[in-house]
Amino acid sequence: MPLVSMRQLLDEAAKGGYGVGAFNVNNMEQIQAIMEAARDTKSPVIIQASRGARAYSQDKFLYHLMLAAAELYPEIPLVMHLDHGNSFATCKSAIDLGFTSVMMDGSLKEDGKTPTTFDENVEVTRAVVEIAHAKGVTVEGEIGVLGGIEDGHGAGGSGLEHVTDPEQAVEFVEKTGVDALAIAIGTSHGAYKFSSKPDGSVLKMDVLMEIHRRLPNVHLVMHGSSSVPKDLQDVINQYGGKLKPTWGVPVEEIQLGIRNGVRKINVDTDNRLAITGAIRKVFAETPEKFDPRDYMKPARDAMKKVVALRMTQFGQAGHAGDYAPISIDEMKKYYTKAAAK
Ligand SMILES: [Zn+2]
Repeated sequence: MPLVSMRQLLDEAAKGGYGVGAFNVNNMEQIQAIMEAARDTKSPVIIQASRGARAYSQDKFLYHLMLAAAELYPEIPLVMHLDHGNSFATCKSAIDLGFTSVMMDGSLKEDGKTPTTFDENVEVTRAVVEIAHAKGVTVEGEIGVLGGIEDGHGAGGSGLEHVTDPEQAVEFVEKTGVDALAIAIGTSHGAYKFSSKPDGSVLKMDVLMEIHRRLPNVHLVMHGSSSVPKDLQDVINQYGGKLKPTWGVPVEEIQLGIRNGVRKINVDTDNRLAITGAIRKVFAETPEKFDPRDYMKPARDAMKKVVALRMTQFGQAGHAGDYAPISIDEMKKYYTKAAAK
């Protein structure tokens, strides 16, 4: 299947009432892990690359790996998405390269750290929507600011400092025309999200429900949504790692979100933990080994297991064959028609 737009994938997810995991990648093994999990569970999937990942992989390497994935797994609807674009130029370069979806995170300034004003966010996001939709490419925006930092991106602090205001969310969508909206409901990027199991006082599910009530046709996105399961932390610490105790977003809370309009769920940390644990185990148990395949293969298998589990939990499993791909070219017409209305 050719790479498809995220708009199509999320429209289908909304029809089916399920969520779709968006998994971050930097290299071949991570892409393989996701595609194998998608094949086993028959899942449509979003693969995303941050600015850091694009720099690490020199962009083109990653892009051609994605084309290989589309070619080798023709039965899987696959989106190539830019995670946290920090500027118009970053988003434009991704669109020019061939990404089928971009996130313009205008909640922060170009430095990726300082919160912007509402008007600054609208202005830059609107500009990206114009060039993206003209090419059939999907746009995710963000309103409100997440906590934590990942890949050098983030305002830091807890996730509760800039929780999304539902009224502003409505105005933001009207003014920008984004296809999907990342909202801040108390989650954070990175492994250290919460110092105890999060409950209603830190995860603002009521805010999410209110936004969905006001914007029933906008696909909501949960960032910072790794669950950081204890068993993955334990493997790392058992084999010489030094992770401090930490809690992520419980899967039940994500599932509650999915019942209330969440269609895209970003997961990165859980996969990083799985990979690192698997590699540490090989190093500790068989220190005589030195062929990278001896530890990259178990690492890939460990990530595949986590991804497949999330695909089942988010409900995307079994839906890969539900629809035929709409080409990015056809998506151009979709947006031209929508704009004429
Ligand atoms: Zn994020």
